[in-house]
Amino acid sequence: MKAPDFDYLRPETLAEAMDMLSRHGEDGAIIAGGQSLLPLLNFRLAGPERLIDIGRLAALKQIVDGDGFVEIGALVRHCDLASSEAVARAFPLLRQAVGHIAHPAVRHRGTIGGSLAMADPAAELGACCLALEAEMSLQSVRGQRWVRAVDFFAGIYETALAPDEILTAVRLPRRGPDSVQIFSEVARRRGDFAIAGLALVADNHMANPRLALLGVADRPILAEKTMALLANNMAAADQAIELIGNEIDPAEDPAYPPAYRRQLVRTLLRRTLMELLP
Ligand SMILES: Cc1cc2nc3c(=O)[nH]c(=O)nc-3n(C[C@H](O)[C@H](O)[C@H](O)COP(=O)(O)OP(=O)(O)OC[C@H]3O[C@@H](n4cnc5c(N)ncnc54)[C@H](O)[C@@H]3O)c2cc1C
Repeated sequence: MKAPDFDYLRPETLAEAMDMLSRHGEDGAIIAGGQSLLPLLNFRLAGPERLIDIGRLAALKQIVDGDGFVEIGALVRHCDLASSEAVARAFPLLRQAVGHIAHPAVRHRGTIGGSLAMADPAAELGACCLALEAEMSLQSVRGQRWVRAVDFFAGIYETALAPDEILTAVRLPRRGPDSVQIFSEVARRRGDFAIAGLALVADNHMANPRLALLGVADRPILAEKTMALLANNMAAADQAIELIGNEIDPAEDPAYPPAYRRQLVRTLLRRTLMELLP
């Protein structure tokens, strides 16, 4: 099938883009890399009257290696994340996770902003942002607000973005030098969306652990009970592995029943914790 007709707008600046969205946000859509939106249009699952192509907004393509944080522009592509030294140094988790997103062709067009705004519950980057305590910058003609990742994801394909808002950047607080960051997932084939995945971020000796899961709920989630059990307590590893499966409540799915996903998550946590053994 072919996409329905739409008007095509191409702002040169963020101010222009925000102005267009304030006028057309309800019946228009932003297009970034197009790797999720174009298939939706072609299958006629979406039919916005206008596409607002933000691809020329250079300010959204930057990675700022700041003091105490790294800020990643919404138009930074998956392949840019994978090749950025600043990202690799501070957030090896992201580089590990990006390797699981689709295939090189998709990674060369898809953007972090598009992935987060799409809010697919099985997307890798959403879970990484939860684990890394990211904040999202949302901008509109009404101003800018910062939303924590934990408040950004509102449900399946739903976020805190209002129709007139653009996700402009993601800010990640730096971790300590001994930060542990491990990503793992299981997919049917390499490049498919994950059936389940896990991102662990912790300080030395499992201090302040953050365990984010993808593919097991209507949005990326934190396994908070397991986090509390594991904090400074690697001796509780076996209990934690059991608990994490019980903590989630995956939806019925004929291909992958809830019990299967529970077991997958336990296996992912076991593998992850084994990587930390001396
Ligand atoms: C074959 C295939 C396999 C894939 N496999 C995976 C996978 O394994 N894991 C995974 O995570 N993803 C996967 N994807 C999706 C891919 O990562 C997309 O690139 C990503 O989800 C969307 O990024 P985009 O820049 O292409 O966004 P677009 O397709 O341009 O936009 C997606 C949505 O986000 C909105 N949007 C985009 N940018 C912004 C912004 N800055 N502010 C507000 N709204 C915005 C758009 O309006 C649209 O609703 C796959 C895609 C394909 C085609």
